[in-house]
Amino acid sequence: MMSSAGVNIVPVFHRNSDAIDIGDGKFRNIFKGCLRALNHQAMYFEGLNLVYGYAEYEKGVEILDSISSTYPLATIASAIFHVCLGECEKASTAFQVFNRVTGLGLTDARAQTFGGQFKSDLWWFAPDGYNDIPEYFQFPNDDFVQFPYCIFDNLYYHKCNNCYMFHLAKRVYEIVWFKEKQT
Ligand SMILES: [Zn+2]
Repeated sequence: MMSSAGVNIVPVFHRNSDAIDIGDGKFRNIFKGCLRALNHQAMYFEGLNLVYGYAEYEKGVEILDSISSTYPLATIASAIFHVCLGECEKASTAFQVFNRVTGLGLTDARAQTFGGQFKSDLWWFAPDGYNDIPEYFQFPNDDFVQFPYCIFDNLYYHKCNNCYMFHLAKRVYEIVWFKEKQT
């Protein structure tokens, strides 16, 4: 039997992202096979789908965390979702795993490739109508993650390597919880 562990599922999205969805999605069975085979790409997309599409925050982030030591996109997704949910310590832990896995610091411009990919992958999913707005948005500030105080440097919105992850988290917060469509 062919293993689904290494199947590339992205082309399915280009046909129809609903196809992997729960219910009668045409590719749901194939997708489920990939999940059972612990295909990391499928698990990553399932994590995003659960958080964004079904407001299943705990379950979604748990899936992402389960592959975070080998799949950096899931690691960054988990870290950013934790920030949005106000879970500072867990966010910091995920950021540290990201650093261990990729060798990239959070302010390294190359880390932005992963952040940007994660943000655009959200595009495939439709938001749940009932995503409760998390009470707190909290960016970590500890030994490993420094809060980017440069966001207060001027009144105008700016982006730099130092505050990239903060702005990414803000943007994801708007997309997932305030249903702002991506541009
Ligand atoms: Zn900045």
